[in-house]
Amino acid sequence: MQQQPVQPNADVVIIGGGIAGVTTAYFLAKRGVSVALVEKSEIGFEQSSRNQGFARQQGRHPLEIPLMMACNKMWQGFEKELNADLEWQQGGNMRLARDQQELARLEGICKAEADLGLGVRMVSPAEIKKLIPGLDVEGNFIGGMYCQSDGQAEPTKVPAAFARAAQEYGAKIYTRCPVERIEVAGGKVVGVDTLRGGIKAPVVVCAAGAWSSRLARTIGLGFPQRMIRSTCSESVEVPFISKTVMWGGGFIFRQRPNGMVWFSGGSNRGADYDITLESLRNMWMFMPNYVKNRRAIELHIGGPLLADIWRNMPWSDYRKHPFRYAVMWEPKPNLKKAELSRRAVAKHFTALKDIRIGRTWAGGIDATPDAIPVLGEADTVKGFLFATGFSGHGFGIGPMAGKMTAELITDGKPSMDISGFRFSRFKEGKLAMSMTQV
Ligand SMILES: Cc1cc2nc3c(=O)[nH]c(=O)nc-3n(C[C@H](O)[C@H](O)[C@H](O)COP(=O)(O)OP(=O)(O)OC[C@H]3O[C@@H](n4cnc5c(N)ncnc54)[C@H](O)[C@@H]3O)c2cc1C
Repeated sequence: MQQQPVQPNADVVIIGGGIAGVTTAYFLAKRGVSVALVEKSEIGFEQSSRNQGFARQQGRHPLEIPLMMACNKMWQGFEKELNADLEWQQGGNMRLARDQQELARLEGICKAEADLGLGVRMVSPAEIKKLIPGLDVEGNFIGGMYCQSDGQAEPTKVPAAFARAAQEYGAKIYTRCPVERIEVAGGKVVGVDTLRGGIKAPVVVCAAGAWSSRLARTIGLGFPQRMIRSTCSESVEVPFISKTVMWGGGFIFRQRPNGMVWFSGGSNRGADYDITLESLRNMWMFMPNYVKNRRAIELHIGGPLLADIWRNMPWSDYRKHPFRYAVMWEPKPNLKKAELSRRAVAKHFTALKDIRIGRTWAGGIDATPDAIPVLGEADTVKGFLFATGFSGHGFGIGPMAGKMTAELITDGKPSMDISGFRFSRFKEGKLAMSMTQV
């Protein structure tokens, strides 16, 4: 089928239809801005529909906490605002501790976050049991960090709902339409070139998730980014356990209103890191983070690197058009890890001892060296903005990133401070590492 060409002009082009892209489109279109959102696959096809669905405030970098606290208030109103069922549940977020070392770490984080005004507190095993009666606490957990106002929503529903609402305000959305080039003239962005034609625009937002670094590089911007493959599963329907989401202590758990449980974790090295040519770039910048999380990541050296070298040979079409080859990109789930996480859930909930997996998938989590996003205009290319780099926790804060980006474009200044997320921090050597990120 012949696909429609894209429109020739827009005030703003957004690259990427994940949570960052669709919320930026929504808040811009609501303000009357002409927006063209261009997505290489389908809306929410990558991380934004594959994540665990936690919209948590706790366990974040101090720079993110004020934004996420404001975002939590927005989440509470989104179902009404978008007239959509997002499966929003404000059932709290429990971070569990299995040993004294982890408990002490959580106590430090809890104090720092409470000092920032977040309603977070440490809870005893007896209180955990009261809050989550279905969890086998005794002999497993010695305490936890609990944020009662935290919530969850359904990733398979949220991006589509924002995209629909943005369209109702006039935004145009083009799917299966990879952006191949960003056009720059005289130090200013002037548009993009897609597989279905060019769109001229004075502002381009890069909300391309794990592909942002590659895109930015085409206009000379060195954005350090790596990608971690993370496997997640959904159970078949099981008895009701809790509206509180849980993590730490060996597994991650969220139950949907329909009874299905989304879970992951369960093994020491819960995530997979495929070493490719892309991941070798700026490797040194990721070393501190890698060392900190080395026990949580399984390295895969060899196969993925050789395949990537082959793909990038001088004669390869992939090398010229990488984004065409990433339409409907499906990272491979690690089925061994899925089974380990199933066993971890079965072990910690007597009522779920026979839990079965309904489906398993993987997502490519994008991460920056300091594990916080990049928001705002690139320092050397006028009109090119980043809303990306959410480092494994962008579903919850995504709508606030969209709001801030829309305000920056329309008002010249966002209503909250996002300067800590500036792109130039990498060049300045001012990475915002924090021990309070969980
Ligand atoms: C398994 C897993 C669990 C997670 N759990 C949580 C959680 O519980 N809570 C939380 O807050 N976060 C979680 N995250 C992280 C969260 O999903 C991401 O931070 C967030 O979805 C990122 O949104 P995004 O819009 O930046 O990127 P994405 O959702 O990845 O969207 C980027 C989009 O850009 C498109 N694109 C890329 N290049 C181009 C191009 N050249 N042209 C056109 N389109 C392009 C892609 O196709 C993609 O759809 C998890 C992630 C995973 C994978």
